[in-house]
Parts: sequence; C-alpha cells; structure tokens
Amino acid sequence: MIRITRLDKEISITEAEFSPGEKWLVNGAILEGKDFFVVWDTASYPKDVAEMKAHFSGKPAVAIYSHADWDHCWGTCGFEFNHVIAHANAVLRFNDELPVTLRQFRNDHPNDWRGVKLVPPDFTFDEAMTLSLGYFSLKLYYFRGHTIDSIVGFIPEKGLLLGGDSVESVPVINDPGNVQPWLTNLERWMHREDVVQVLPGHGKLCDASIFAENHRYLQSLLEGHPVACPTGTEFYKQIHWDNCKRMGVAVA
Ligand SMILES: [Zn+2]
Repeated sequence: MIRITRLDKEISITEAEFSPGEKWLVNGAILEGKDFFVVWDTASYPKDVAEMKAHFSGKPAVAIYSHADWDHCWGTCGFEFNHVIAHANAVLRFNDELPVTLRQFRNDHPNDWRGVKLVPPDFTFDEAMTLSLGYFSLKLYYFRGHTIDSIVGFIPEKGLLLGGDSVESVPVINDPGNVQPWLTNLERWMHREDVVQVLPGHGKLCDASIFAENHRYLQSLLEGHPVACPTGTEFYKQIHWDNCKRMGVAVA
C-alpha cells in the first residue's frame, strides 16, 4: 500500500511499505512540472509505482534516484519512465552490487521480488544539475556519505529539500571512509537559511535542524566519542549499534 499526501499544488509526498512483512516506510515525492512529472525515488516494488501512476499521468515522467539502495529504486519497472536520472556512481552499483542483492533477496523471499527488473539510470551527473520544471526548479547535488552515489534535491522556490538517506534520525553508515565527505556535505547545508523543510528517505517531514543533528552524531563517531542513540525505537537502536561497531566506538 502506498500513501500519497499533497503538500501543495505541485508537490506530493509518497510513503510506501518496504521489505515483506515490515511496517517500515520509504519516502518519495511526485513533482508536477509544466511539461513533465518528476518521481523522486521509486520505492521497493513495481506495484508501488503502478499505484502512484494515476498521480503522474498525462505528461511525460522522469524518475530520479536519491541513491541506488534497493528500497529507493526497485519500483521503477512498474512504469515506463521517459528518463531515469541518478549520480554517475549509481551506474557502478547497478552493474556490480544490485544484481547480487536482488538474487539474494529472491533466494530469501522468492514470492516478493518476482516482478522486479533493475532499471539503471540513462542520464547521470557528477556534481550538480538543474531541472527546470516551469513553475519551479529542482537542483540536484552530489552528497557522498551514506553511499557513494547519494544525492539531494533542492527546490529553492519552495524551500524544500529532498534528502534521500543523506539525512535520517539515525544516519546509516555503510563505509567509515565516507563519513568525512558526508560531514563536509552536511556543513554546506546546515547554515543555509533557504531550507524550510526536509524530506528524509525515512521518517517524517522535518526542518533543517536535521543537518546539524546528523552532523553532531557523525562527528562524534568519527572522533571516536561515544554518543547516545538519537531516537528510542528498536530499529534505530540496532542501526546505532551497527554504526558504533563500524566506527570502532563503544556503544553509549
Ligand atoms: Zn533507505
């Protein structure tokens, strides 16, 4: 099941369940431009995108991946998008990592992943790019940190930042080597006054204070200082525990 909430005339937020049998949600957005739609992240299942379809019909549609983690890009084959945009490093992940992950998932849960076909980006960028949507624009920026292909999208006319997993209540560290660039990217955004709302890849729409909160958390771990888990849910406690282990820091 997918939930679609309208933020304003042009922007809707999508929330989809991911992972069989779990209630955890992944966020995305549908942006209605003058001449085409943008779908920011396509969730985990083709049926999720098929359900969203009614909300982006009548004009061409472009999908954008915040990064190539499965829960953000496996729904794409549920619709024939005109283009798929992502960071250049996403192509590497589609070549090497994602086919292996899909095979593993199909081994573990054969019924759940039958319809998934991987759809790699056909348009990539390295540092930044701007899409003009007529009434507003979407600026994409490379944001290495959570993964090597993470990006964020900013709509200056609305003060809305689409964060993917670059911001989260407890940011997920996959590679300690990417924490320093992650901090540098967060520093670029935490002092800006033009960001009003931030949509993380998971969790609720929030304000720009999440940049500084994530920065404080990651900085502590990078410096080897134990830090308390920022939230109390079991899911995030586990992520916090994994982060501490990965960074070689005692669990606070
Ligand atoms: Zn995610």
